[in-house]
Parts: sequence; structure tokens; C-alpha cells
Amino acid sequence: MRPLRRTPSRLLLAAALLFACRPSPDATETPTKTAENGAQAPAVDPWAAPAEPALATIQAHLAFLADDAQEGRPPGTEADVRVQEHVIAAMEAAGLEPAFGGSFRQPLEVIDGVRLRGGKASALTLAKGGAVDHRLVPFGHDTADAPVEARLVYVGQGIADPSTEGDYKTIGKKVDGAIAVILATSPDDPHMRPSLKRPQSRVIAARDRGAVAAILVDPELEVPYPNHGAYSDLQIPVISVGKSAAQAIFAELGARGDKLPKLGARSRGAASIATPIEPIRLATANIGGILRGDGSTGKRIVVGAHMDHLGHGTSSSLAPGVDAIHNGADDNASGVATLLALAESLATLPASARPYDVVFYAFAAEEMGLLGSKHLVDALADDEREVMAAMLNFDMVGRLRDDTVIVAGTGTSTPWKDLLERSRGALTIKASDDGYGASDQTSFYEAGVPVLHFFTGPHDDYHKPSDDLDKINLEGAAAIGAVAQRVIAGIMQDRPELDYIKVERKASSRGGFRVSLGTIPDYAAQVDGVKLTGVRPGGPAEKAGLKADDVIVALGGREIHNLDDYMAAFGSLKPDVEIDVVVMRKNERVELKMTPAQPSRR
Ligand SMILES: [Zn+2]
Repeated sequence: MRPLRRTPSRLLLAAALLFACRPSPDATETPTKTAENGAQAPAVDPWAAPAEPALATIQAHLAFLADDAQEGRPPGTEADVRVQEHVIAAMEAAGLEPAFGGSFRQPLEVIDGVRLRGGKASALTLAKGGAVDHRLVPFGHDTADAPVEARLVYVGQGIADPSTEGDYKTIGKKVDGAIAVILATSPDDPHMRPSLKRPQSRVIAARDRGAVAAILVDPELEVPYPNHGAYSDLQIPVISVGKSAAQAIFAELGARGDKLPKLGARSRGAASIATPIEPIRLATANIGGILRGDGSTGKRIVVGAHMDHLGHGTSSSLAPGVDAIHNGADDNASGVATLLALAESLATLPASARPYDVVFYAFAAEEMGLLGSKHLVDALADDEREVMAAMLNFDMVGRLRDDTVIVAGTGTSTPWKDLLERSRGALTIKASDDGYGASDQTSFYEAGVPVLHFFTGPHDDYHKPSDDLDKINLEGAAAIGAVAQRVIAGIMQDRPELDYIKVERKASSRGGFRVSLGTIPDYAAQVDGVKLTGVRPGGPAEKAGLKADDVIVALGGREIHNLDDYMAAFGSLKPDVEIDVVVMRKNERVELKMTPAQPSRR
């Protein structure tokens, strides 16, 4: 292939400007010209100096997507629909065709928190203190018409480190048959595994010691835990109490003034908790458009970016307790804007220059666990899946620093590194091999598609209301869009064999787990247990014989009903200590032995 970064001759430049940024009147044919003397003019190579993703286009889309008017783009809301319509309009303007059987929309349903069942009320009533202000959380149990009544027991932060018993060392059996009052603040021990600190894990620790309900009390925040995200039934009701009502609970446990109760303190009378709840099901949609090529390869290149963000703040907000619009300018208005600018620029090329179709997907509900892209991949017919040659993902491309862009997935196909090297222009590529990552490329990589994820790196505004437009590096986003376009140009012109490589990598210590199992949970599955979308090559799970679609129902002797049980169970596993695992496989119960591994230190 001719180097992609070659400087165009004057003639070619003139030709390129002629065609820049609008589909040529007859995009199907490469124009041939005859010179004055009638001689055949040399064919213009449309890839010589194609229009590149336009900065003005990126700017316009970013301004719309990251505006307060889109309210942080929470799935299943009017703002979500406005964003979908905006993306569809841009795809139509670029000349894309609907990607979902005549529609640009692929509807899907997501669960986002809980609500009270019709006509029912939740309640938290203390023996002495009476009714207390409280909030629902997206985990717990539907008490239907049977409130739970029991005495309160104070368990401190209720963290049960399996090796030390943690706070329960002092409390002992007192919480058995009682309502556990858990201090929701997080211990400032940076070495403690996050999986143990999760409120769900603390509720499970109390439940496993006999608690019949739990109250998360936070004397610092008004909203200890936002009622957003997937719902999990932890078999005991859970309610949260914020700073304005915290003292009422502590007073019921004998605390004076603004003091905390003593560990193991018990209320004299019984309290009552009622949470007649059901999960909130929201309708959202993936958006997709196809830029048809000449069909000569019969294959497709996928370009993706997620549209959603955190609204006014969910449990993955890094500004806990702050009820404010999380504009998500970088995450991921920048990615969607760059995707739309790339669609526009690629559409200026004649179809004859594109032997591959390019399908552009704007994903829903990525922040909820890659739900949109997972749904999309699961819904693909086999033949649709087979023609997917590669997937390029833009997630957080708006904060380029030092002209260095992180590109993950470079090990997932042989041509990637060379293609990137020839496409990078003035940018430096910080490559990482793994196709698994915290964004939508993972859904495609799991399905056997080589992937690349473009990313400008973490920053202090990540998942905060301060991830705003004025911090976006527009030129950087345009430059990254141009790199991706050159990669696509390289594929279009060379038609390389984009083989699929399973990158073997031990799970990193990121996530703070003491062990790694090499399982890949399916965050979208609504099953009793934890369904696997796959297992990592060479990991403990693969060695133990676990497979994709297996549903884990017991781990290390603990029942697993949902992801929260699974995370809590993780906390009690030790590296190199064999454990029993039970999975449901095609309705058959299968018992296996697995030896957790050490997470790799990176
Ligand atoms: Zn993102």
C-alpha cells in the first residue's frame, strides 16, 4: 500500500477540494477526464486526499449533545429521544441508509432503578422516632404487602473482610434476626478491595449473618446511593437514609447529639420497613446507519460510539451525592460527534472507492454495562456477524494531550499495528493489545470481531458534572477522526486479511480484586445467577471448563443470584485455593472445580 501520509500534488489537491465535504453528484463512478488533446486523463485516486472529518461538524454535534438541554443524556428519557433524533438526522444528511431493517432505530429495554408498585407506599417507622424520611435503592427485596419488623442493630460500616471478619468481629451474632443499620460512608483505606466496600456487598454480609433487612445511613450525603441502574434482589429489603434523617436512626440506637452509636448497639423497640418495589423498565434504542460501498468485498467495517451518559448522576458518578447535569462532553459526546463527522467525510468518496460498507452505530446504555452494544451484537444474524470485518470504537476522544492517543485492541488483528503506524499522521499512538476494555468494543470482540478503541485518557472531570464542552480539544478529536479514517482507507485500499486474534492476558489488578477468575459476566442478562458471555483465554475459568452462556449459581460454597452476590463472593476467594463452582448449562446443573489466580500487577 502506498503510504497514507503522502503529500498530495497540486493537481490532486485541486481535485480534492473540488470534492470536499459533499457527496459527489455521481458518487458511484470515479470520474475520468479527457485532456484537451483527447488523451485519457489519469484516474483521480479518491483516497489520495479525501475530505477529513470536519472540525466544524464535530463542534456542532458536541455543542448539541453536551448542552444542558440534553440533561446528561440518560437512557429512556425525552432527552434520550432528542439525542436519537439528532443522530438519525445527521446520518440521513450524510446519506446513510437505515441499518435495522428499514429503521435507524433498534429499540431495547433497560432497567434503571426501582419504583413503588402501583398505589403502594414505602415506609421506615421507628419504635420511638416514628416515620423517617428515606429513599429507595436499586437493590433489596420487594416486601409486597408484608413489611419487615425487627429491632435495629448498628453494624458500623458493615464491611466483612473474610480474613478478619471486619466489623462483625465485635458484633458477633447480634445482627441475626435484626435490621442491620449500616454506616454508608466509605472507609478511607485505599488498600481495601472495592468489592468489599460496595453497599450491596455490605448488605449481603449482614444478610449472610441473619439480618432480615438493612438501612444504609449516610450522615454526610443526602442521597447515599442513587436509585439508578440494574436492579438486584438481595432477598432482604434495603432502604437508604440521608444526612437530614441520619440522627433519628442513630438516636434510636442510643447515640447522643451527632455521635455515632456504639458498634453492636440495639434499639429497644422494633422498627418496620416496607419496600413494595418493582424494577423500572425503560425504552431506549441503538441508532445505526449504513454507508453503502460497491459491495465488492461483501464485508462491513463497524464504527461505534455510545450516546448515553449519567444524567443527573448515577451510582457510577464520581461526584457522589451531587444532583447535577453530567454533561459528558468528553464521555461520550466527543465520540458521537467524531463518528458523525467521519460518516460525513467518508460519504464524500464515491461508492466505487469503498469496497466495504461502513456501518455507524451510536449505542445506548453503555454506562449501564455496555447494554446497547451487547443487545446489538446478540441480535445480529449469523450472516450479519460474519461480514463484520472489524470494529472501531470512539469513547472519550475529546481530551487529547501531547498529541498522544491511546488505542486499545491493537493485538486483536495482525494488520492493526502497521495500519496505525501508517495512519497516525502527527499523533503518537499509545497502543495496548487487549480487545477487552471498559467500552463497547468489548461486545464486538467477544463476538469474534477484531477491534480498536480510540481514547484520549482519563482526567479529573471523568464521570463528574464538570466534564464540560470548554475542556474539549476539538482539533484533537478531528485529528483522531482523521487517523481512524486513514485506517479505514488502508483497509479499503489494501483489503488486508483482518484475522481475529484472541489476546491472552491475565486479568489486571484494576478493580482491586485479590483474585482473577477470567470470567466475563453478561451485565444485560436477567437470570437467577450470573450468566457468562465468555471466559478469558488461558484463565482459571477456561481451565476449569466454564463456558459462554453458563450461568454461575454457586461460587466457593455461596449461592449466587445476581452480580452483587458474585462481587461479594469474590471478596472471600484466595489465589491458588481451589473452590467449587456450580453452573447451570442448558438447564443441567454442572459442578466444577476452579483455582482462582493472582491478578497480574501492571
Ligand atoms: Zn464512555
